[in-house]
Formats: sequence, C-alpha cells, structure tokens
Amino acid sequence: MANLADYAVVSAALLPVGRCMMLDERSAVAATRNGAIDLLIVAPRHDWWAERPGVADLAVAAADERLSVLAMVPSGDAVALAHAFDSGVADCVAYPFDRDEVAIRVRTLLRRKAAADRQRLAAAEVRRLALTDPVTGLWNRHHLDTELTARIDAAAAGGRPLALLMIDIDRFKPINDRHGHAIGDRVLRAVATRLANGIRSGDTLARFGGDELALIMPETPLAVAAGVAERLRALVADGTTEVPFAVTISIGVAELEAGETASTLLARSDKALYAAKVDGRNRVAAVS
Ligand code: GH3
Ligand code: MG
Repeated sequence: MANLADYAVVSAALLPVGRCMMLDERSAVAATRNGAIDLLIVAPRHDWWAERPGVADLAVAAADERLSVLAMVPSGDAVALAHAFDSGVADCVAYPFDRDEVAIRVRTLLRRKAAADRQRLAAAEVRRLALTDPVTGLWNRHHLDTELTARIDAAAAGGRPLALLMIDIDRFKPINDRHGHAIGDRVLRAVATRLANGIRSGDTLARFGGDELALIMPETPLAVAAGVAERLRALVADGTTEVPFAVTISIGVAELEAGETASTLLARSDKALYAAKVDGRNRVAAVS
C-alpha cells in the first residue's frame, strides 16, 4: 500500500524520535523474528491482515511485548482496522497519514515499549532470585524440586535413563567452627563453582540445603553417572585453591527406577551418600 515517497516522509517524521524504520510487510515479518526492533510501522495492502502466518508472527511478537507495532490502515476501512487490532498491533494511524501524528504516536509507543521492557527485566530478576540460592548462586531447593519432577516425568515417558547425585562437603561443620562462617561460605561457593564448571549444560546443579548439593543428570545411566561423580569428587579434592586447607566431598549416586517418584529417588541417592560417608568420605557410592 505504502509507496517509496511515504517511506521518505515517515522517516523524516521519525528523525527526531530516534532509531526507527518503516518496513514493507515481508521485511516486517522477518524483523519480528530477530527481536532487534522496538517498534515496527507497517502499511500493508488491504488483504494482508487476513494472511497467515505473517500476521500470526506479528501477533505473537506483539502479544509478549517483544515488539510494538503501529499499523497504517486506509482511512475509513473499519474491517482492516479490526483485523489490525486483532493481530496485536499497539496502535493504528489512518492512511494517507499526517506525519506529525505518526511522530506523536511513535513517541508514545516507544515510551510504552521501554516501560514494558523495564518491567519484563524486573520480573525476570525476581524470578531468578526466587529460584537461586544467594550464597552459592546455584539453583535453590524450590527449583530443584520442580526440575526433578519434570525430568523424571520426561524420562519415564520416553523410557530414558536419569541419574541423581547427592553431594555433601566432608566435615564441613569443623571448618565453620574453626575458621568461622564467612570462610565456611567461601568454601561452599568454591565447591559450587568448581562443580558448576565441571558439569554438562543439560544437567541441573542445585543447593539441596546446608552443605548438601544435588545434580540431576538426564539421559544418564548409573555407570556413566558414577564416572561423572568420581570426576567431580577428584575435581574438588585435587584443587580447591580458594581456601588454605583441604576440602573434599562425598557423593551418592542413584538411577531412576520404573515408577519411582522424586522423593524416593532423592532418598535412595541420599542413602548412597550416607554409605560414602561411612566408607570414609571423599568417596563415591552408587546404588543400583
Ligand atoms: P559430614 O562429613 O558427615 O558431612 O560432616 P559435616 O560436618 O559436613 O556434617 P553436618 O551436616 O553435620 O554439617 C553441615 C554443616 O553445614 C552444619 C552447618 O553449620 C553448616 N552450614 C549449613 N548451611 C550453611 C551455610 O549457608 N553457610 C555455612 N558457612 N555453613 C553452613
Ligand atoms: Mg557435610
């Protein structure tokens, strides 16, 4: 619908507003996919609004506020206006358009988009804080429980293996008693960082509580998990340079059994952990 001259007029109108672009409908759809644009001005032909999937892409991007869309709709075309708003555009302006009106509407939409971006970032930060442990920066117990249940469901549904490691710092209480809580915290953080750097990206490492951590390993049978546990044990025992004394961990390993729940799997890996402690600590113990 819009012609080259329109693009020039709109661009001129938008110069004082900031970095803005007017795109044809094809480029507009592509822009919704890369997420790099705050505001899109579309001036499509009449029947474009009824077309899928282009409009659907716009609607999805607009609905979750990744993108604000201003549509130019032929003056007096109520059907196109309804289609445009149904597709999730933030605002419409009549075509032929008044360049000052376009600039005013764009400025308002950009302000709204910036506020929505700030709100989304704040919400993401609140979500992150609610799911992480402040001392170690690892996932917390709440996230562990959610993730373990979901992973167990997925493993059971697909008939896939899953292993759970329970990891506990050896003789941590004496470290606290002798060196103080601040050093104890530093040890916790050092162990957490070392382990976090030594695991696969698909695994979930969380603080279970106190000096106990848990590692969910999807797609992993017992023997492989025990091998990983041994590597992690050695990783901590051989090189915690952050504090001037030796730090070791013990690890219990269990593989998901048919029909098992999160709590029984946790209990079995905890039992294996206890066996590793009884066996002398700085050990890995696995239960079949
Ligand atoms: P074991 O080898 O049997 O695991 O001995 P342990 O001393 O590590 O066992 P225990 O579970 O009795 O000790 C855990 C200690 O962890 C007790 C508590 O003082 C300490 N602790 C729990 N949470 C924190 C924390 O957030 N920071 C610090 N510094 N210490 C903590
Ligand atoms: Mg301990």
